[in-house]
Amino acid sequence: MLTFQSIGSGSSGNSYYLQTDQGALLIDAGIAERKFRKLTREYGISLGKVTAILVTHHHIDHIRTLGILNQKDGMPVYMTEETKKGIFLNRYIGKKPRIETVTTIYKGSTIRLLGMEITPFSVPHDSRDNVGFLISHDNVRLCIVTDCGHWTDEIERYVSQATHLVLESNYDPDMLAKGPYPVVLQNRIRNGQGHLSNPQAAEVIARHCDHLKTIWLCHLSEQNNTPQLALAAAKQAAGNALTNIIALDREKPSKQYDLEELTLF
Ligand SMILES: [Zn+2]
Ligand SMILES: [Zn+2]
Repeated sequence: MLTFQSIGSGSSGNSYYLQTDQGALLIDAGIAERKFRKLTREYGISLGKVTAILVTHHHIDHIRTLGILNQKDGMPVYMTEETKKGIFLNRYIGKKPRIETVTTIYKGSTIRLLGMEITPFSVPHDSRDNVGFLISHDNVRLCIVTDCGHWTDEIERYVSQATHLVLESNYDPDMLAKGPYPVVLQNRIRNGQGHLSNPQAAEVIARHCDHLKTIWLCHLSEQNNTPQLALAAAKQAAGNALTNIIALDREKPSKQYDLEELTLF
């Protein structure tokens, strides 16, 4: 069994919950503590089962509660050396994980946790470092790509192996250009080191929908996107493919998806 659940996805906080028969882990811990505990309680998400937090990168919307969950709840942390530096050298980050509970992970090098094989890979973004993950369990291969400035051959190779994909679809280019963000910030988002747009995500979907059972669109911008626009672009790209396409909610947990069951159709 492998289940996937988004607890929140977007600039106000990212966190995904993965569970196997051996336990659970989090990908990122970016939701503020009170909200995170309230949501997990209300949606019956068992934090007691979590024995690892994997971190994509050190931006605050991905690590806001990392130190707290590590120190209060005893959850060990897994991240790359550069992300570790990004956190430990940043004096604005209050509570940091205890260094002796941090395991360094390496791009292209697979680790085994809770019956899953997890391989981090490089994703370009304006942080010290950023990784995506390919997570394999039995016949399921879940790939997670978020905060992606531009697509690369390396990402393409990992996504080609996936049966399920969590893919950033951050902004609609028109909404970004006409929206409230100053041009400097607009350029930071679309300059190739920021975020992936709906049309860029759609290109990926057009190439890969045939082997993907489910695609969750993640990290949708509140100001520069709507779930309707992101879904419309993705579904048009998928054409007649049977892929299930879902836009993750920014503020609310998704349902808990059983990925093996989703692989059966
Ligand atoms: Zn980021
Ligand atoms: Zn982010």
